[in-house]
Amino acid sequence: MHEWSLAEGIYRAVLEFAESHNVKKILEVEIKVGELMQLDLELMKEAIVTLAQGSIMEGAKIEFSVEKAEFRCEKCGYEWNFETAKKEIKRRISKDKLIKDEAGSLDLPLHYIPDLVYALAICPRCGSSNILVTSGRDVKIQKIMVKK
Ligand SMILES: [Zn+2]
Repeated sequence: MHEWSLAEGIYRAVLEFAESHNVKKILEVEIKVGELMQLDLELMKEAIVTLAQGSIMEGAKIEFSVEKAEFRCEKCGYEWNFETAKKEIKRRISKDKLIKDEAGSLDLPLHYIPDLVYALAICPRCGSSNILVTSGRDVKIQKIMVKK
């Protein structure tokens, strides 16, 4: 599962950091998760806690914060956020009738969004599809609190 491999990456990075800094105990780890990642944070926390058992990270508090997604147009330089991107995609989908759910409704379920953002997002200002996701699509260790 996605969450487990990310949890393992985080666990390893934290331990590596701890080893290179002579840390005796890890007290707290804060993880920043991109808005577009769509992770089950409870599952991820559980995975980290499980992996940490028997290590100096055992019992550490695991906190998450969300990194907002941001987009930038390569053509005109315009920048916008996820809310605007979603509105824009919804507007285009209902116009072009690209997607319907099982009941034939054009209402767009939120869980489809991240893939759609990549496939369908265009610049709200100039309409270019040459866009960059500048933030909100990765997982970072934001803060580690330790006892030396
Ligand atoms: Zn543009």
